[in-house]
Amino acid sequence: MNHKALVLFSGGQDSTTCLAWALQRYAHVETIGFDYGQRHAVEMACRPTVLAALRAQDPGWAARLGADHVLDLSLLGQISDTALTQDKAIELQQGGLPNTFVPGRNLLFLTFAATVAYRRGLTVLVGGMCETDYSGYPDCRDNTLKALQVALSLGLAGPMVIETPLMWLDKAATWAMAEALGGDALVEIVREHTHTCYLGERKQRHAWGYGCGHCPACELRRAGHDRYVAAGR
Ligand code: ZN
Repeated sequence: MNHKALVLFSGGQDSTTCLAWALQRYAHVETIGFDYGQRHAVEMACRPTVLAALRAQDPGWAARLGADHVLDLSLLGQISDTALTQDKAIELQQGGLPNTFVPGRNLLFLTFAATVAYRRGLTVLVGGMCETDYSGYPDCRDNTLKALQVALSLGLAGPMVIETPLMWLDKAATWAMAEALGGDALVEIVREHTHTCYLGERKQRHAWGYGCGHCPACELRRAGHDRYVAAGR
């Protein structure tokens, strides 16, 4: 509980759940988001709303939740050619990875986060990376992040722990984790205020939240929510 953490917070379901996890665990928690020319900035726009909702839900969380940092990484949008940063259809590429993959994105995010954390006296980085339910992004894998943790700690000559509480969970378990951390109120914050859809669609409200309902991110979120509800909620 004495440690201070920096949560990679995008405004999506996973990073919101990670933020609640960190607020239950650490004495002081700050957040960081990256603006890198996402095709739709809807996720970024959700961030302040989610932060306000978390503060309103729990006085303890409000007391521990500190500064929010937003870094302009438009350079990443310029040097990568993907469906997340360019106006093109989401499809599988040669090699089996979808073209939503921004090469090395999480390596860059965590390295920038470590730079901010070091300056702020924070020694834990928390991210929503996950091996279980994703599209096989190699920079989300546990071994990749373990290696980066070693590299950052050596390069900064001080401890920089990378925590990934969702690493081995599927999406149904991520919904259940939100409930365990903050009850139905947190589940409803996730449904109503977080954003996951790759297409930036927020017109249609489904049981699991807003989204187009068809892109890979919506499919995962909807299927996980269905299994979570079927399991007893
Ligand atoms: Zn969608």
